[in-house]
Parts: sequence; C-alpha cells; structure tokens
Amino acid sequence: MDSNKYKQYDLHCHSTASDGELSPVALVQHAVKCGVDVLALTDHDVTDGLADAAEEAQRHALEFYSGVEISVSWNKHLIHIVGLNFDVENKQLQSGLAGLREQRDGRAEEMARRLDNIGIEGSLEGAASFANGQILSRTHFARFLLQNGHVKTMQECFDRYLGAGKRAYVEVEWISLAQAVEWITSAGGQAVIAHPGRYKLSATKLRRLIEDFKQAGGLGLEVISGNQDINMTRNMVEYVRRYELFASIGSDYHGPSQVWRKMGRMPVLPESCEPIWSLWAG
Ligand code: AMP
Ligand code: MN
Ligand code: MN
Ligand code: MN
Repeated sequence: MDSNKYKQYDLHCHSTASDGELSPVALVQHAVKCGVDVLALTDHDVTDGLADAAEEAQRHALEFYSGVEISVSWNKHLIHIVGLNFDVENKQLQSGLAGLREQRDGRAEEMARRLDNIGIEGSLEGAASFANGQILSRTHFARFLLQNGHVKTMQECFDRYLGAGKRAYVEVEWISLAQAVEWITSAGGQAVIAHPGRYKLSATKLRRLIEDFKQAGGLGLEVISGNQDINMTRNMVEYVRRYELFASIGSDYHGPSQVWRKMGRMPVLPESCEPIWSLWAG
C-alpha cells in the first residue's frame, strides 16, 4: 500500500515573494498548522522565497519541494504553468524568470498610466508598497485600489479595472507554453498546468491546450485546485486518464484574506490518478 496516498499534499501556494500575504516562513508555519504534510511553494515568476521556506520546513519536518508558477501566453490566453521539484540554481530557468519579471515591470508602468488616465493617481508607487521587491502583480494593484476606496472588493478590482479586457488591463505576450515547459524540464522539474478549470476555455480549447502542453513535454495537470467544483474535478480526472498525465493538487493559497481558499483541506486524489509525486520516490 502506498502510504503517501493519505498525506496532505499542497503543491501550489504563494508567499510575499510574489502576491501572497504571508512571508515564506509564516506560510510554512501556517501549512504545518493546517496539517499539510508535503508542500511546494509556487510564487509567480520568482523563486526567492524558496530558501527561507525550505529552511523553515526542515525545522518542522515538513516535506518541501521547489516550485514556481510561470505566466505563459497560449493562443491569446494567459495560462499558468507550475514547475515542481527543479534545480533552483538552473541558469536557463533563472534568466528566463528574470526576463518575465522585466516584462512585469513594463506592464506595471503601463497599467499605472492607464489608471492615471482615468483619474486614479499614484498606483505604481501604491502597488509597489504592497510588494516585497521582486515582482509587481495585479494583486498588488488591486490591494492599492481597495485600500484607497476605488472599489469595495478584490473581485470588483478585476471586474472593473484589472481583468482581461478591462480599463487598466495591459495585454502582454508572455513566453510560449513550450518555452516554460522547456525551462522547467531542463532544470530537472515537472511541468503542470495550473488550475485548468479557471481559464474559461471551451472543452475543445482546453483539450487543445492539454495536447499542446503534452507535446511540449508537459507532465501534469492540477486535478484538484483550491475550492474547485466537484464536477470540474471529475472532468480533470477524466483528462489525466485520457491524456496519460500525472495528477497534482494545490490550494493556490494566497493568504488569510481569501477566506474561501484554505490549506490542508484538499480532497484525496481518486485511485485512478497517478500522482505527480510518484516521480519523486526515493
Ligand atoms: P498577474 O500575475 O500580475 O497577472 O496577476 C494575476 C493574479 O491576480 C492571480 O495570480 C491572482 O492571484 C489574482 N487574481 C486574478 N483574478 C482575480 C480575482 N478575480 N480576484 C482576486 N484575485 C485575482
Ligand atoms: Mn496570484
Ligand atoms: Mn494561477
Ligand atoms: Mn497561483
């Protein structure tokens, strides 16, 4: 019997190194408190939180793996690819991620200009004050908009200003799907499509995404993602079976203010799924 099956895995979450609310150390402590046994920290386009998180995990005997969530453009859609258990020092991966962060900086300036044009001033500095240095995310802009009373909820920030096609949305050509998979794979890791149910893709398009991903050498699909509908999970179970992919699990936890997304509360993977961590045995 595989005793790993009954461990709580969480292979997708965020710290203050990207747009999470908890520091890497506090995040690990929170994961321990929530009963997580195996954790990967997957900040957006940056790996700076991993060293502190790994050290804290060791203090608690929490099994910890490297992770990152990479922004990718695929047929005009912004897709997130999670990389797991790779060599953090890998030069190609790190220089690639540095390029993405530069793109983020340019995008942030343009977002701020657009907000300026509609009478919302000081958003670049405002967003930066919520960020921890390395990356500027739409989440940081959202926190600024919220704090300054421009909106009442985070959702409203995205619905009115920051979501795709909205007034302050800046379309960016991120790297290709194949490029992200290659960086992760050549750093010795596994590439996983993050939260496949959240892209609002038709079934045909989602199948095409999975086929392109698989062709590029991608290995896994997040079958279970934070507060996901059970029917979506069933669909994802069917996709991993049909495309012979490995299954992953991640809360996509960003911090305590997202009360609907918790750590340590994930369902167990169905028996029919081959977990991505079966590749890590030994
Ligand atoms: P970025 O990576 O800078 O494009 O920002 C995307 C991030 O914004 C995602 O990783 C989420 O954390 C956050 N986000 C996207 N949509 C929403 C939403 N509707 N409500 C709250 N946060 C969101
Ligand atoms: Mn995020
Ligand atoms: Mn994501
Ligand atoms: Mn995420």
